[in-house]
Amino acid sequence: MVSCAVASCKNSSAKISKNKDGITFHRFPRDKDRCQQWVVAVNREQGWAATSSSAVCSEHFLTQDFYLTDSGLRRLSVNAIPVINISACQAPEPTISKLPPIDINPTDTDEVIQLKHKVRRLEIIAENRKRRLNLMWQRKKRLRKKIERLKGLLRHLVKVKKAKDGGS
Ligand SMILES: [Zn+2]
Repeated sequence: MVSCAVASCKNSSAKISKNKDGITFHRFPRDKDRCQQWVVAVNREQGWAATSSSAVCSEHFLTQDFYLTDSGLRRLSVNAIPVINISACQAPEPTISKLPPIDINPTDTDEVIQLKHKVRRLEIIAENRKRRLNLMWQRKKRLRKKIERLKGLLRHLVKVKKAKDGGS
């Protein structure tokens, strides 16, 4: 049985299944530096160390941290670090398991199964783009406000200067 190493997470392979809940478990990186980043992220008691069987469940990774292999296996990208819902004080965030599991029928041919996986890959990509677009939209709104503020300031300065020129 694998349990999620995140202090505040109760997910274990005994309680959840990949097909039903869409949650997968990911072992700590072998690379020492990256492994240490994970150890910090999972927020465990002092002195806790990851072992070769320690794992973090997919609930703590961003959608863009995952990619699917051609055969439809979900893999974690090399630089991924758990960031979502790792502390009890964090507001819960939507995670990848919100996507319903791929629905495969026993009668599906290999081609159909492959196409279903492809659709899922595209769904994840679309989801990421939507998120990025949203961020860009927010940034644009902030920049617009900044421009308005600067314009106001400029108008004010021009007025002050005109008053000064007129007064002298
Ligand atoms: Zn977890």
